[in-house]
Amino acid sequence: MDFNRLAELLFPHITQSPEDYEREFPQRNLPEGAKVTRIGPSPTGFVHLGNLYNAIIGERLAHQSGGRFFLRVEDTDAKREVPGAVELVLSAMAYFGISFDEGATVDGDNGNYGPYRQRQRKDIYQCFAKELVRRGLAYPCFCSEERLTQMRETQIAGKDNFGYYGKWAVCRDLSYEEIEKRIAAGEEYVLRFRSSGDIENTVELFDGIRGTLKLQENYQDFVLLKSDGIPTYHFAHVVDDHLMRTTHVVRGEEWLSTAPMHAQLFDTLGWQRPVFCHTPVLMKMDGDTKRKLSKRKDPELGLNYYREAGYVPEAVWEYLMTVLNSNFEEWRLENPDADLNEFAFTLEKMSNSGALFDMMKFDSVSQETLLRIPACEIYDKMAAWLREYDPDFYRLFTADRAFSERIIDVGRTGDRPRKDLTNWKQARQFLSFYFDESFVPESPYPENVSMDDRKEILTRYLNSYDHADDNSAWFQKVREIAESLNYALKPKDYKKNPDLYKGSITDVSNVIRVAVVGRTNSPDLWEINHIIGEAAMRRRIEKAMA
Ligand code: GLU
Repeated sequence: MDFNRLAELLFPHITQSPEDYEREFPQRNLPEGAKVTRIGPSPTGFVHLGNLYNAIIGERLAHQSGGRFFLRVEDTDAKREVPGAVELVLSAMAYFGISFDEGATVDGDNGNYGPYRQRQRKDIYQCFAKELVRRGLAYPCFCSEERLTQMRETQIAGKDNFGYYGKWAVCRDLSYEEIEKRIAAGEEYVLRFRSSGDIENTVELFDGIRGTLKLQENYQDFVLLKSDGIPTYHFAHVVDDHLMRTTHVVRGEEWLSTAPMHAQLFDTLGWQRPVFCHTPVLMKMDGDTKRKLSKRKDPELGLNYYREAGYVPEAVWEYLMTVLNSNFEEWRLENPDADLNEFAFTLEKMSNSGALFDMMKFDSVSQETLLRIPACEIYDKMAAWLREYDPDFYRLFTADRAFSERIIDVGRTGDRPRKDLTNWKQARQFLSFYFDESFVPESPYPENVSMDDRKEILTRYLNSYDHADDNSAWFQKVREIAESLNYALKPKDYKKNPDLYKGSITDVSNVIRVAVVGRTNSPDLWEINHIIGEAAMRRRIEKAMA
């Protein structure tokens, strides 16, 4: 077969040569050891935690080494694309503080290695496809979907391996004349790779996270170009990561099984393989079992979830770092105030089995992270969130900046700061009692305090209340009320002798707390009185007694 002739028949419009592209996209001029990484999101309208997780790894690897980090839109699957999806990815990445050195942007491309949207690279892929045809390493395949399905059924029945290979690869050796005739007749075809792999062979593949792996060699004549001339992921990834000079391909573990196909293509084209870094799948505990995070069941898999709940990006980074690198938490303990970018992230410290995403742990990391942010910044961030998600509370919260900064800071100082704030949605709920307009009693009064006692406690409290009292004088009065009504001053005394008392001091303070704050869990009551003011405090108690 004259493969040159076949290449011209299939790709008459391709005039560029591989060398032209090699020249157009030269090796990058970067310092020794600099890594070039990327993310390749598909514009499906759903940006998931895995996108951010891989982006953080890529960003750290590149920027810690003086390399480059870019964004490539993998839009070869037009059926899955939804309008506005690229903007969605870009805005999610921007929100989480991921900075790209180059790649697709809202207004087009930024950088010298583009285009950065795969559908705009059709001619580039076809140039290399033509080269493979010319070398006898790719061929057109006219098998219809029905035919392939039929073939699969026969393979199942005969317990054969699935796929297009060996005797099943019926289009492998069609003559030039037959191909020409079928194309002239308007038959559709895909372009397949002619694999020289053997089902019995294994290949070595170096993975930056998993080390050297021995995997089954690819023996399938997989599809390079679909019938519309658009490449499959496999072909597009290899061509792009070669021409964009990617050194480390950070991608999800789901690509590990097809990595031998990619390695074979790199080798066949005479290109250096990048270091593959297959990141572990994100898992969660579901009862006693660990399972993959699922788009259908777990809202926390979508990046939007964090934005809508108002988690600060810093908290998400901080938590993902603890999932990513086993030594991160220890580093954080030693460097409580350091910028996260000072941590030396390494692939070696990554686990290669599933990464466990634990929402409770994440919330606690988020609380710690917020403790490190000064009240004035919390105010700005929370106000920005409220403006978008809760305009009514935004009005209350921003009416008096100094007041709001004060309520943010209640209980946050000292050796054992309270961790009341987790995200803006929860913080809005938590802080709502400070404002008369949003104050709603939430917790019930303690059960063991009778209605009469409740009134009595509140009456005595109001009668003895002096706004000038300091915290301990104030508390002394609460103790006196408790004692005079026969509530134990030490909760443990009441526990030991429940028949001797009506309850304990905790019940008495909780009565006051529920009246003033609306709930039993709150920061220091004396401090709250001094923030909302005596008048508001009295009003709430009187209302509670009415
Ligand atoms: N488009 C692929 C995905 O969304 C990207 C894989 C890669 O990074 O190579 O999974």
